[in-house]
Amino acid sequence: MKRGVRRWAVVPAAGRGERFGGSLPKQYVPLLGRPALSWSLAALLAEPAILGIMVAIAPGDRRFARLPEARDPRVRSCPGGARRELSVANALAALAGEARDEDWVLVHDAARPCLHPDDLRALLEVVGEDAVGGLLALPLSDTLKAADPRGCSARTLPREGLWRALTPQMIRYGVLRRALALSIERDRPVTDEAAAVEALGMRPRLVPGRADNIKVTQPEDRTMAEAILAARGAGSAHRTRLRRPRV
Ligand code: C5P
Repeated sequence: MKRGVRRWAVVPAAGRGERFGGSLPKQYVPLLGRPALSWSLAALLAEPAILGIMVAIAPGDRRFARLPEARDPRVRSCPGGARRELSVANALAALAGEARDEDWVLVHDAARPCLHPDDLRALLEVVGEDAVGGLLALPLSDTLKAADPRGCSARTLPREGLWRALTPQMIRYGVLRRALALSIERDRPVTDEAAAVEALGMRPRLVPGRADNIKVTQPEDRTMAEAILAARGAGSAHRTRLRRPRV
């Protein structure tokens, strides 16, 4: 990894979580007794190469300040926006005084609590030498169907060369600011950073990631995320930390 290059993380955590159902936004869904966002931030904080983390939170969010990770000096917050890319753009603007155009920004979904340290390291290693950036992604393994208006399978689509985009997505600060500004100005919503960068004619690198880097979106994802974290011994490590008396 190159020395002298700075790396920041941005965590969009301002979603209202409608798809999860209920009033609790998905980034605050409890997993082994700890909110999803807490796990996601801890995964980033475990990587010493990340200089600072800007978390975009919904206006009026009172849960964020209660997270132990929110007290870490590397973690700060800013107001999010009405769409994911507006939240990310706000976070980039909040870093404007410190981040330089050539710096790296790793954008990581608050609702992806199972980021594995090996994936984060692989992304930093592989993309670190790239001019544009890259993202963790997974080649499609399921067969793809196109539905007709009645919800029946009308066609089978080729899956060769298709990947599922995960996060973190690691893009140069200057490139990402320009890309998102253009998407917003043209009112062309994007669902990830790479899409905005592609619209500039650039090609972020696809870095194969782990399938267990899931986004907690549906209620059943919670069971899966807890099983993944528990299998890594993460829950017991957390509980041990909680029980340790303060000195
Ligand atoms: O809704 P989606 O699955 O795309 O959300 C991905 C991430 O973007 C979540 O962590 C969510 O909190 C965040 N988000 C945001 N601002 C929004 C909508 C989503 O920060 N307005």
